[in-house]
Amino acid sequence: MRPRGLGRCRGGGSNLTKEFKRGKMGVSRGSRRPAAKFNRKKIIRQKTLKGPVECTGIALHCGDMVSMTLRPGEAGSGIVFRRTDIAGGSVIPATWDRVVDTRMSTTVGNEDGATVSTVEHLMAALRGCAIDNAVIDITGPEVPIMDGSAAPFVALIERAGIVGQAAPLRVIRVRKAVVIDEGKRFASLSPGTGFSLGFEIEFNCAAVSRQTISIGLINGNFKKELAPARTFGFLHELERLRAEGLAQGGSLDNAVVVSGDKVLNEGGLRFEDEFVRHKVLDAVGDLYLAGAPIIGRFHGVRSGHAITNRLLRALFADAEAWCYDVADADAVDAQSVDGAWADEPAVAVAATA
Ligand SMILES: [Zn+2]
Repeated sequence: MRPRGLGRCRGGGSNLTKEFKRGKMGVSRGSRRPAAKFNRKKIIRQKTLKGPVECTGIALHCGDMVSMTLRPGEAGSGIVFRRTDIAGGSVIPATWDRVVDTRMSTTVGNEDGATVSTVEHLMAALRGCAIDNAVIDITGPEVPIMDGSAAPFVALIERAGIVGQAAPLRVIRVRKAVVIDEGKRFASLSPGTGFSLGFEIEFNCAAVSRQTISIGLINGNFKKELAPARTFGFLHELERLRAEGLAQGGSLDNAVVVSGDKVLNEGGLRFEDEFVRHKVLDAVGDLYLAGAPIIGRFHGVRSGHAITNRLLRALFADAEAWCYDVADADAVDAQSVDGAWADEPAVAVAATA
C-alpha cells in the first residue's frame, strides 16, 4: 500500500483526519516487505493520558473555584474542553479558529456561546508533555490558574501517566514565513527544524527591563526551562484590571507582582528572566491551538495572545505557508519534544520520495 499525498509536504490544508484516526498513514507495523521498498523510519505515534486526573483551583480572572478533570482522548480527536456545568456538557475544541477573546488570556468558545478562558498554560503543558489527545472536563468558564505557571499541569499529566496510541502523529510543518508586524509588536513563524522560539520583551521598569530568550523544545526541556515560569502583572495595573472584571482571583500565590523596581513575591523569582520565559510558555500554549505540534520557528517581540492568534490565522489562510507531515525520526530529533518519544519502536514507512 502506498499512500498518496502523505509523508512529505504536499501543500497545506489537506484533510487527513480520517486517515489519522484509522491509524493509516502509510505505516505498516511489522511489515516483512523487502527493505529496499521502504525507508526504515521511526514513526511517532499519538499520545494521550493513561487515566483521568483531577485538580481544583481558583480562576485568575473570574475568581471562581473551578474543578478540572483531564481524561484520555481518542486518537485524532485533539484537545477538547467540555463544560460539565452546562446541561448536556458543552464541547469546545481547543483550536485557533475557536478563539473568541485574547484580553489578558486566551478564551475559546463554541457556537452555543459556551467558553473556556485562560487555556494557554494548560495547553502549553499538554504540548510540552507531548499529549495529542485529551478531554478536559471543567466545572466553570476558566481554567484554574494554580500557581500561575504550567508546572502544576505538568505534574498532573505525569500523575495520570502517558500512553501511546495506534495512530501516527501528524505535525504542522511551516513552509513559508508568516509575519504579523504591528510596529511595536511583532510575531513570526518561519520554517525550521524542530520547534524553537525566540522572544524579546521590554518594560519600562527596572524589575523586568529588557529580556530576550531563544530556546528549542528538545529532550523534554519544557518541564525544566519553561513550565515553572509564572504569569506576571504590575501592581498599578491591578486596579484597572479589577474594574474591568479581570484578575479577580489574582494574588501573590498565582502571579509574580511587580511594583516599580521590586518583585513583591516572597521568595522572589524562579528564574532571573522568568518574565520572558513566561511569555514563551504562553506562546507554546497559544500555538498549540494550531491543533497539532508545529515544526518551525516562532519569534515574538512584545507579542501576546492576540498577535499569536492572528499569526495562526495568517498561517492557515495561506495554503503555501504550511502543510501536514508525518512526525518521523527526523522530526523528533529536531522536534524537540519529549524524551519519551525516543522510546517509540521503529516501524516501516512506505517511501514517499
Ligand atoms: Zn500566561
